[in-house]
Amino acid sequence: MIEIIQKAMCVGCYACCSCCPQQCISMEEDGEGFKYPSVNKSKCINCNKCETVCPVIHSAPTQDFSEISFAAYSKDEVIRSQSSSGGVFSVLAEAVINQGGVVFGAAFDREFQVHHIGITSTDDLKFLRGSKYIQSRIEDTYKEIKEILKTDRKVYFSGTPCQVDGLKNFLGKEYDNLLTQDIICHGVSSPVVWEKYLNYVKDKIHSDIKHITFRDKTFGWNKYAVKIEGKNGTEEKSTFLENEMMKAYLRNVCLRPSCYNCPSKGLKRSSDITLADFWAVNDYIKGFDDNKGIDLVVCHSEKGAKFWKEVVPLLVCREVDIQAASGNFSMNCSSRLPKYRDDFMHSLENHTFADAVKRYCSIPLSERIYTKIKLGIKKVSRRK
Ligand SMILES: Cc1cc2nc3c(=O)[nH]c(=O)nc-3n(C[C@H](O)[C@H](O)[C@H](O)COP(=O)(O)OP(=O)(O)OC[C@H]3O[C@@H](n4cnc5c(N)ncnc54)[C@H](O)[C@@H]3O)c2cc1C
Repeated sequence: MIEIIQKAMCVGCYACCSCCPQQCISMEEDGEGFKYPSVNKSKCINCNKCETVCPVIHSAPTQDFSEISFAAYSKDEVIRSQSSSGGVFSVLAEAVINQGGVVFGAAFDREFQVHHIGITSTDDLKFLRGSKYIQSRIEDTYKEIKEILKTDRKVYFSGTPCQVDGLKNFLGKEYDNLLTQDIICHGVSSPVVWEKYLNYVKDKIHSDIKHITFRDKTFGWNKYAVKIEGKNGTEEKSTFLENEMMKAYLRNVCLRPSCYNCPSKGLKRSSDITLADFWAVNDYIKGFDDNKGIDLVVCHSEKGAKFWKEVVPLLVCREVDIQAASGNFSMNCSSRLPKYRDDFMHSLENHTFADAVKRYCSIPLSERIYTKIKLGIKKVSRRK
């Protein structure tokens, strides 16, 4: 029976509760809004399936394949402008849908909480497109995927590395008709902190929220902004350096506790393909960064590489040294746990969101100067 000995190790992937034949495991929310398994011991038959599928107890299998990596972006300028990086996710997803498949990814609900949903139409890709920096709830997604896979229909699952590990362990075997894609992941934020931020924004704009984009590119990809549209017609854009939620996220004060010691790091992964922001692209291909967004793509399996070849004609794509992937900090390393994480969480109880962020998430002057110089250098090299 799954037992949470160290709460900070549970990634909240839903594999244990999805596989329980007695349905005696439920996912319960803690004070920060993160879900953890809770076992109804009176119904448990001690089959241990829940422990077998847990990706923290048993690492998900990786493939015997020499990783290859690419810099890529969609040739479709609209898709690219609406995506966090180069829009590669949409290109892969569209290809699967055009082959009659189902795509599972993270989408906002009406309250702007994040859940995994499945779609079968390219019109619905807009719901999945774009990064959401809050933990997405898997709910029945793994079970739905298993049922679809049995029908030979193609499935594309996109999520965090721990969610792909959870899915792979839950399935317990390879399916030719399943393509999995994870991301290089900084971590996922607390749904309760997110809700407090949303309430703070609603007060500020005197309106309910109509739409949120974490990665608006009005000021360019390198200086991405959070865009919030109110139902009253207001529109707010603040860069990741100014936006309060992004400051809290990037200063690591509201990540899931397991993100500080992530079990799914490393170049070898259970996924077929990994996507990430290719911030350092100019170090590998001079002048490639046009400030519109570029994906770093890593293929981890024969299946991933084969599918990649199929979509390449829809992309601007160049192969790069695999060092580009290893050089991305969050590929191999977990985000650092700040000493003041608990203080930040407590301060949200009796301060406004903006005040709590001001106290605990101010970016030191040295770092601000460094970022400004970095962005400045990118601008100058683009002009050349
Ligand atoms: C929580 C998070 C942390 C990230 N951290 C890093 C990082 O540290 N370094 C880096 O280089 N890149 C990071 N990325 C990846 C990067 O921001 C882009 O998502 C990636 O490059 C794909 O971009 P795209 O333009 O191809 O597609 P997009 O359209 O931007 O990708 C959309 C897909 O991403 C997945 N996704 C979005 N939000 C979530 C979520 N909350 N949970 C699970 N899956 C989600 C979905 O399934 C969604 O369908 C992160 C992404 C997320 C979601």
